[in-house]
Amino acid sequence: MSMDKTTILIVEDEPAIVELVSFTLRAAGWNSFSVGNTADAWEFIGRRMPQLVLLDWMLPDQSGLRLLSKIRADRQFSELPIIMLTAKSMEEDKVAGLEHGADDYITKPFSPRELTARIKALLRRKVPEHGQGVLSVGPIVLDPISCTVTISDAKIDIGHAEFKLLKFFMAHPERVFSRSQLLDKVWGDHVVIEERTVDVHVLRLRKVLKSAEVLIKTVRSVGYMLSEK
Ligand code: CA
Repeated sequence: MSMDKTTILIVEDEPAIVELVSFTLRAAGWNSFSVGNTADAWEFIGRRMPQLVLLDWMLPDQSGLRLLSKIRADRQFSELPIIMLTAKSMEEDKVAGLEHGADDYITKPFSPRELTARIKALLRRKVPEHGQGVLSVGPIVLDPISCTVTISDAKIDIGHAEFKLLKFFMAHPERVFSRSQLLDKVWGDHVVIEERTVDVHVLRLRKVLKSAEVLIKTVRSVGYMLSEK
């Protein structure tokens, strides 16, 4: 059972910027770690995958762009959200960053508010993309492209909200989520609905899953999880 805080890795060699960014991330409720070069960044990512990386362009050992290419070339990290931090404001540099697989870029100097807004937007954008491949847990198979769900090879009728909820659970099995986390991650924090709405959708989801409903566990006073155990 884990309810990890979002971890963000800062790859930046200028101490003043590291300090400002770390402070900003902590104030927004995220965990932050920082490294000062691409070698340490690569080592960190391999050991502990962050939810997002803020990557400086000009680093002492290699350019941030080189690290970006290396990360994107690795299947394991190909979906890792990355924002490039750059002092360069020239159009071709922005294009190069995006072409190498950056999800966004932010030009120095930036305000803490702007940074926080960009990170939130990217995390929101990325969550629904988790696992665009076919997901399978026990007898349930979910195809995010055709939006179909089968249970023991039989297709089921499922509502849009229940589909999104099931997809999220299947992308994050064996992890418990609170109602407010599910609201944020499944519906996005721009949607204003009450936490008990989550209960309604979980109830409906269990109904359509029939015997496979046992996979959706209620974790008393915490929330819900999908578990085969
Ligand atoms: Ca730098």
